[in-house]
Amino acid sequence: MQILESAYKARLHRVLGTNAKKLVKAFKLDEVTGLNLADAITLVEDLVEVQVTNALQREEFEKAHRRALLLPHCARSHMDRQCMADFDAATPSYKCRACRDSCLINKATALGKARGYDVYVVPGGACAERILKEGKYEGVVGVACGMELKMGLGPLRKLGIHGQGVILTKNGCVNTSLDLQNLESVL
Ligand code: SF4
Repeated sequence: MQILESAYKARLHRVLGTNAKKLVKAFKLDEVTGLNLADAITLVEDLVEVQVTNALQREEFEKAHRRALLLPHCARSHMDRQCMADFDAATPSYKCRACRDSCLINKATALGKARGYDVYVVPGGACAERILKEGKYEGVVGVACGMELKMGLGPLRKLGIHGQGVILTKNGCVNTSLDLQNLESVL
């Protein structure tokens, strides 16, 4: 764990990522392969960051009694009126009404509730901070893209909350995906 912490503090994963991106650019590997390798490297960097942060936070997170699970609204199977979730402006978050068995948010909500979490389906990072602050939570599991998870670290430190991140397996503004097995192992 000490080696992991030292490597993380030295930002080794970012240094390696930057060098890999330089190689991609120098040898025009994006053009040669037709793949977006620079984005793929960023994803790997984000994954490393999330995994290491989770490992460093895990012990304190497990001591937390009052926990929240924050899910991204973009992973709902529908983002229009077909989604029956109620938006609660006071929280602010959606409350899933389990209208579709196949919906990832429905399944993730059930997992969280079964493990004693308060579950919120949030439209963005600002809402997440407000929920955590007003709910006086001690621990949080957040499901989001790498960028959002990184942006959430500052508010967590400020609020003294220990967190675990689950990175989305498909990013975007709609139809995003998460790995339920990964979520279950983190909860
Ligand atoms: S299961 Fe929940 S989140 Fe999914 S579409 Fe229905 S109400 Fe919306």
